[in-house]
Formats: sequence, C-alpha cells, structure tokens
Amino acid sequence: MSGRLVGVLALQGGVAEHARMIESLGHRPRLVRRVGDLEGIEALVLPGGESTTLRRLLAAFDLTEAIEDAARRVPTLGTCAGLILLATLGVLDVDVERNAFGPQVDSATTRLPWKGGSVVAAFIRAPRITRVGHGVRVCSTWRGVGRNGSGPAIVGVEQGEGEERILGVSFHPELTGDTTIHRDLLG
Ligand code: GLN
Repeated sequence: MSGRLVGVLALQGGVAEHARMIESLGHRPRLVRRVGDLEGIEALVLPGGESTTLRRLLAAFDLTEAIEDAARRVPTLGTCAGLILLATLGVLDVDVERNAFGPQVDSATTRLPWKGGSVVAAFIRAPRITRVGHGVRVCSTWRGVGRNGSGPAIVGVEQGEGEERILGVSFHPELTGDTTIHRDLLG
C-alpha cells in the first residue's frame, strides 16, 4: 500500500474534510478515537472544532498524553482549534488568542502567503498567534482586523524539522480545496 498512514483526531470538528483531502493526495487517513488508533501513524492532523470541547474529550477518552507524544514523534498539523490544542498542550511553542477575528458572521476566505507560495484559507472564529518561541518560523500573516487591534496577525507557523515538524494554522485549509498545507505536511 502506498502513501503515509495519517492519524486524524476524530473526537469533534472538521474530521471528514481532512480525511478526504489526505485521501485525495494518495495517503491513508485513520480516524483516531482511542490510544490504539495512534499505533503506526506516520503523521497526525488535529482538525478545527471547539478547543475547550476537544480538550475535555481528549481527557475523557484518556488521549491527552498519547496525542502529545504523537505530536512530538511524527509530523503534525493543527488547524484552528487544533492549533489552539497544540499550544495548550505545550508541544508548539506559541501563545494564541482565541476568536481573535470576531464571531462566525465575520468568517472570511482569502489567499495568504505560505513559504514563498500561497494558500487559500478559510477563517471561522479563528485564533491568532500572539507569541512565537525561538524555534518557530512564521509562514503566514493576515491583515484581517482582530478584536484587539489591526493586523497583520500571525496565522501560520512551523516548528522543528523532519519527523518533529509541527505546522499550526489559524485557518481551515481543508475547506477551500487548496492542498498546499497538507502537501507541505505529507511531502
Ligand atoms: N473558536 C474555536 C475555539 O476557540 C476555534 C474555531 C475553529 O476551529 N474553527 O476553539
């Protein structure tokens, strides 16, 4: 079988869209609901949703530590609430401000820079990144006006190399049909 086995945290949120995008790139998504589902995965995606709910579900399913471990071990992507989760778990060295661009009605789709190229990004009650640690590279900024002042805000970052690489984005790349971020993660 070809492609990489990609775990997609499937407790809540935009799971199916990520799984479809992973499949469309020739990889194999595996929905993760229990610790055992993480066995053998070669990359990990934490979808958007609602980060408080996600954190509670992680704890209820006894998955918090296992997800932390996996995110340190294989290339990992967190989108929106998934980014918040990576920051809260301390595996991605950033601080975030939740719902930084206003309510759901202020959702927006826009083209953003991504490492010398670009990506079409959907923002839905998105967080912004308010601090990046030393090892964290900024890949994307957006001039969307935040609640606490005007842009540009940091909305996409990368930390680490190789298997330890972590990508965090404020937006939903899986909703626009743009595979840039997933291709970056999965090679
Ligand atoms: N606002 C949500 C939160 O704070 C994230 C929204 C999303 O993932 N689209 O968890």
